[in-house]
Formats: sequence, structure tokens, C-alpha cells
Amino acid sequence: MGKIRILPEELVSKIAAGEVIERPYSVVKELVENSLDAGASHIEVRLQEGGKLLIRVQDDGEGMTPEDALLALEHHATSKLRDEEDLMKVVTFGFRGEALPSIARVSKLTLITRAEGSPGVKIVVEGGRLLESHPVGAPKGTIVEVKDLFYNLPARKKFLKSTQTELGYSVEAVVRLALAKPHVGFLLIHGDRELLHLPASSEGERIALLFGLSGEGKLLYLEKEAPPYRLRAWLSSPPYHRGNTKGIYFYVNDRYVKDRTLVQILSELYSDMIPRGSYPLAIVKLYLPPQEVDVNVHPTKAEVRFEAPENTYRFIKEALREALKPKGVFISTTQPQGGTATLFHAAQTEIPLEPIGQLDNTYILAKGPEGLMVFDQHALHERILYERLKGHGEGSQLTMPLVLELSEVEVSYLLENREVLTSFGFELEPFGPRSILIKALPTIVKPEGAKEVVEALLEGMKNPGDDLFEKVRKSLACQGAIKANMPLSLEEIRYLLEEWVSLSFPQTCPHGRPLLLVLSREELLRRFHR
Ligand code: ADP
Ligand code: MG
Repeated sequence: MGKIRILPEELVSKIAAGEVIERPYSVVKELVENSLDAGASHIEVRLQEGGKLLIRVQDDGEGMTPEDALLALEHHATSKLRDEEDLMKVVTFGFRGEALPSIARVSKLTLITRAEGSPGVKIVVEGGRLLESHPVGAPKGTIVEVKDLFYNLPARKKFLKSTQTELGYSVEAVVRLALAKPHVGFLLIHGDRELLHLPASSEGERIALLFGLSGEGKLLYLEKEAPPYRLRAWLSSPPYHRGNTKGIYFYVNDRYVKDRTLVQILSELYSDMIPRGSYPLAIVKLYLPPQEVDVNVHPTKAEVRFEAPENTYRFIKEALREALKPKGVFISTTQPQGGTATLFHAAQTEIPLEPIGQLDNTYILAKGPEGLMVFDQHALHERILYERLKGHGEGSQLTMPLVLELSEVEVSYLLENREVLTSFGFELEPFGPRSILIKALPTIVKPEGAKEVVEALLEGMKNPGDDLFEKVRKSLACQGAIKANMPLSLEEIRYLLEEWVSLSFPQTCPHGRPLLLVLSREELLRRFHR
């Protein structure tokens, strides 16, 4: 008896229904997932015209008997699910038994497959109609060829985008699966061009091959386990960032899913390291018992629901936060041996930095372990003050309280947020409806800068939604920091450098701009052709 069964009606009704084939990439995704479910160790994807003309996926997986191959093209026919209990613990990519028949209905499909100890079979279906089915000689495994997608649905076909755009989606679909299964080899060919050649490898190697990050874009690797959860992640180190969330790959039990909460968590954790509105590259793989996650909430399984979302997200956030804590991680520019992109420097002990001087009263020059270091003095000092303000600021009493004249609304803003301001060392009191009395200021603010600081804070308070504490912190750090065009003594420079070292070498200002440039000795050798 074959492996594939038609699902009973009651079970079908419990499966998230909906269209699975939207565009060529949906076909690519479904076919490659089937190959992975069949235990393939090598998968070859060939496309023509971005998949609009042809999609061909060949694998060396377990294949199908002729009997099963015919059944596979029926709706709700699957080898991956038996009863409702199975639905609670799906471990395969597929389980709905819908992909092959849905694809066959809207294309010209040829299936060639052979299982161990069974003859090969070739089946041709056009627009859902069986045209051919006969024995053929074939290697073990499966080849599915999908021609002329939507040929019988001109309205749908019209909505397909340009070859390049459709191709882009398909490449991304393969990348997502290739990241999930690094031990499987992938080859992606478009026309006669090889687009991806990914030999079976370790996770780190695959990531390195796909993203090739080095230097400033190095990846931090972390793993954490707290039953029932386990997490592995690769995170880009600042100041590397991307303008969109496309570099965020989230996997739940090796299934790629879209998840807004994870994006939020990452934004928050990187908020003081990369510019606003930008995102890191992050590959986050979460593992938990299949019963703890429901994959049956979306027809293409692009979303999942956690049984205990609060615990799950708390675990993820803590794990990522710990990994991102400054540890002297990012200073080295040397490449790791062995070609893996995962690298994790332990906290470095002492890094001697020798001040050289200033350039244009704006940049600090120093001799470092790797070569010449150039700091933006404002960004550097800003970062130092910002880090110090983490543990809340101290205030100093003014000999003469200051009176600031403001609008009524502004006075009420300040008073409403008095608690946050007090925690930074401000002491404020109302002084009539339109002015405020400042009795103490954070130590890093000079009395003559008070007005400017308060104005900057008010600006921040007028934009609700953001974390006010963070805003005050950034604002104070910026206002309190030395500016460009300010001469510094060697002593002052030495002090700033020591502070920077003691903070474990942050690489960016709190707004995410780089604060440091290193001209390494190797770079010098190269530039001078030595
Ligand atoms: P599902 O993956 O949800 O089970 P599909 O329509 O994608 O549904 O596939 C139906 C069945 O056909 C699968 O359950 C599997 O048994 C078989 N099948 C599909 N593709 C392959 C393949 N590449 N190799 C072996 N078996 C396959
Ligand atoms: Mg499938």
C-alpha cells in the first residue's frame, strides 16, 4: 500500500484554506519544500523567464511509486498527515496535500519520479487534466516541470510582474529554504545563468556564502537554551544596517515565518546602534516542541501562532539582548579562519591607545593595535555620555535657579514628565503658568546650555510614541558632548580614549552613526605597495 492518503473531510475542514499559488515563486517554494520533505540531499531549480515560462525542480529524495504519484495530484492527498493529532505536531513543510493539484490546475505539469525498488513513472497534466501516465526509466528522486504558469487564467497571468521582479521573489524563496537547510545542496539556474550554487555545508558557511559579511558587517553568533526553547542566531554588528526588514530571517523549527514582533524586538535592541528606521541582518532560528506552535493559521504557512507568546518572545528578546551587550566584540577587522562568518571575540583585556593629536579640531587621531584610528570627537563623546546616562544621571544644584519662559503647553509637558527628568538630575518647579524654575541640572549640562537642552527635550516630548527616557538620554548626550571645531588637549584626548575603552569600544554614536574609522596596517601596506 502506498504512503499517500486522501485526507478525510473533517480534517480538511480544520486546515487553513486559501490559495497557495500566487506567482512563480509560490511554485518554487512548494516544490522545493516537497523535495526537502522527501529527504533530498541535493535540489536543482531551473527557471526560464523568471519562472513564468518554466520552473523545473529536481531532487534526489525518496521519490514516489507510480500509484502514489497519481494520488499526489489529487486534492488533499498527502503522506504527511493522518489524523487531527498529527496536525498538532507537524514537522514537515507540507501537510495540506494541496500544492501539486493546485499547481497542476493552472499550468502544464510533468512529473517524473521513482522510488527505491519501484519503476519510474511519467505523468503529464494540463490545466488539471491527466494527459499521460506511463512507466519511464528515471533516477531515484523526483522531477517536477511546470510550464506556462496561468496559461489558462489570462487575468492572473496579466498580473505577473517583470521577469526580473518575479525572478527576485523566486531567488528569495530559495534563499529562505537554503538558510533553513544548510546540509542540503542547492543549485539555482535562470536561463543559462547560475544564480546560486550552494554546496551542502554548515550553517555558518552557508550564511557566509549567501551574505559574505566581513569587516564592519561581521556577524555575531549566539546560542541559548532554556527548555522548552532553544535559539541560534546570527546578528550583524553595527554600524552595518539595511534600509528594510528583508535581512531579517526568522525560523520556527526551521520553517521561515514572517513575524512583526521579532522585527520590533530587533529594532528596539539596535535602536541606539544603527540609524532610525534601519534594520540589521539577522538570522534567528527558534526551536520549540511542535505542540507549542500552531503552523496551521495561514494557507501558505507564512505565519505561525505560539501557544505561549509572552514567554516565547521574552526568551527571544533576552537571548538577543545578552548577545548584543558590548563585549569588545567589534574592534578586530581580521577575518576568521575557515571561512565561517560566525565570530565572537571574547572581551579584550587591555587595548593600548596612544593619542596622536587632533585634525581640524574635529577629529581625534590615535595609534591603536590595528593601525591609525580616527574618531569623530563629537560622536565619541556623545556615546560616552550616553552610556554613562544609562544608570540615570546625577544632578548638580544651581547657585542661582534659572527661570525659563515657555508656552503653557510646554510647561505642562515638562511637568507631566517630571519624573523622567528628575531621574536624570533635573529639578524643576512650576513658576506661574508660563515659566518654569530650574533648580538643578544634570551634571553634563552647563547652565548656559540649559535653555537649549530644555528646548530639545520639548521637541522630543511633542512626538509621542517613542520611549521618552531614551529620548532624554540621547538628547542630553548630544547637548552635553563636545562639538566639532573645538581644540582639545592631549590630556583631554587621552581621557576620552580611556573612557571609550572602558565602555568596550562602542562603534557608533547613539544615533547610529559611526564614531570611528580604522586605517589598518595591512591597508597602509597595500596602499603604499609595500
Ligand atoms: P503536501 O506537501 O502538503 O503533502 P503536496 O501536494 O505538496 O502536499 O504533495 C502531495 C504528496 O506528494 C506529498 O505528501 C508527498 O507524499 C508527495 N510528494 C510531493 N512532492 C514530492 C517529492 N519531490 N518527492 C517525493 N514525494 C513527493
Ligand atoms: Mg507540499
